[in-house]
Amino acid sequence: MIHYQNENITVFQSALYKTTTTLIETTDAVILVDPNWLPNEVDEIKSYVGRVLNNRKLYLIFTHSDFDHIIAAGAFPNATVIASKAFANNPNKEHDVQQIKKFDAQYYLTRNYSIYYPTVDMVIEEDGQKLELASLTFIFYLAPGHTNDGLFTIVEQQGILLAGDYLSDVEFPFIYSSYADYVATMEKAEGIFHKHGIHTLVPGHGTVTTKPSEIAERIMASKMYLQSLVNLDSKLEGHLQKKYRFFDGMKDAHHRNLDMVKMEE
Ligand SMILES: [Zn+2]
Repeated sequence: MIHYQNENITVFQSALYKTTTTLIETTDAVILVDPNWLPNEVDEIKSYVGRVLNNRKLYLIFTHSDFDHIIAAGAFPNATVIASKAFANNPNKEHDVQQIKKFDAQYYLTRNYSIYYPTVDMVIEEDGQKLELASLTFIFYLAPGHTNDGLFTIVEQQGILLAGDYLSDVEFPFIYSSYADYVATMEKAEGIFHKHGIHTLVPGHGTVTTKPSEIAERIMASKMYLQSLVNLDSKLEGHLQKKYRFFDGMKDAHHRNLDMVKMEE
């Protein structure tokens, strides 16, 4: 299930919703982002981490609290957890845990670790907060809109942006928490792209790209989609059908986005 790998970064991709797990290594730490989804996939990631860890410190970054992204927190109980303040203060922790349990019950899945909502050790409260790990600097930005607790992580020396559920090539924006926040977060992403010279983008679902032109194109596509929601563009659905191979499976999210825009007007 390794989807992309170079000397700095390994990205696993689940069979479910093309959800990604990212692993980054420095001389004294291993950083794992959103380990997920199916039990055998989590086992594979866990044994990979076990093979490369070598007494280094393990960090877990969660890009946001959607249950698919926190599903394997319990497989790495000794890791130091990094997430946003809103993630740490999530009032619906029990709900997220129940969603995992419901999913596993529905598909008769068993896991060899316990299911719980992660406790955050390093809380990200503001844009530009940094973590220096030997040779690498991680810079964090709050990224609300998809959910209110989203987090962007930049690996400064490597020009990597770990985007969570933004800037996917397989999904249009899913707006669960706020349209206005989503728009602002895309502006922020554009600023980060230029300021930090981003040339590798890892989305929470879909395909890694190492082409700055494609990163710029994905930012533009999200901004245009958000604008089209307000304009009630009648051709939008036909366009999405052509652009996104799995559109039939995510049509409801598009309709909910339209409702969200109406509510915020
Ligand atoms: Zn997701």
